[in-house]
Amino acid sequence: MKSLHRKIETIIEPEPVVEGAGVRLKRSIATRRLNYLDPFLLLDHFASDNPRDYEAGFPLHPHRGIETVTYMLKGEVHHRDTLGNSGSIGAGDVQWMTAGRGIMHEEMPQVRPEGIAGFQLWVNLPAKLKMTPPRYQDIRAREIPEIKHDDGARIRVITGTVEGTRGPVTEIAANPIYLDVFVPAHAFFRQPIEQGHTAFAYVFEGEAKFAGDDKEDGSIISHPRLVVLGDGDYLKVTASETPVRFLLVSGKPLHEPIARYGPFVMNTQEEIKQTLRELRMGTFVTT
Ligand code: MN
Repeated sequence: MKSLHRKIETIIEPEPVVEGAGVRLKRSIATRRLNYLDPFLLLDHFASDNPRDYEAGFPLHPHRGIETVTYMLKGEVHHRDTLGNSGSIGAGDVQWMTAGRGIMHEEMPQVRPEGIAGFQLWVNLPAKLKMTPPRYQDIRAREIPEIKHDDGARIRVITGTVEGTRGPVTEIAANPIYLDVFVPAHAFFRQPIEQGHTAFAYVFEGEAKFAGDDKEDGSIISHPRLVVLGDGDYLKVTASETPVRFLLVSGKPLHEPIARYGPFVMNTQEEIKQTLRELRMGTFVTT
């Protein structure tokens, strides 16, 4: 079967958003232009060395029906939930949290000289797993394999497989790929992505062309941009004069109805009402 390059479908400029108790973010999924990229519900990029942009953090709040994925480039976030879990997510670490039937937690960025930078992605859960028990996969930077190419390209594999190396986050319903990719100037990167899976690249440093083997004349995408990829079975990214760094994320779409209310994402409005009733009655988190 002939391999099929994934072309650019849409380019999204992230929108400035103030979230939590006053955290400045760049949001590219869960925006007016892109409400939902099945199974991805939200993508936030935070990057600041001004404490006023992030120190207020995300005080106690609930989640149900989704997974939240925090990947840090710089700085540190402390988290704590009402089930008794707590810890910190530092530079290069990832926390893949499956909220399932519900967690109530806080996520508090720490003021550090280097400031803060990172991402939060929300991944939808299929109907059959929305009420699964909560689960954390806390992965330290040193546990994330980094593949190095002779041309200087570096790929951190958080989940999914690159050249036979499997990332440490496993057993995720969407069967996702989540990579942090650096490509030096004049080098390229090629990665298979399962056909039919939703895929995007989030360019956060530098610029590159997202064009296939037979089309090297594609336009240059500069940071910060979300590049939604069309279907196909591989992606090729070519850096020209400038290096590029981007997240490459893919996952199996659910094709299920969604009912969304802030941090809760269910399939029906009745399930949202039920969730709000449980919150009012104090029965939301039951373990
Ligand atoms: Mn949260």
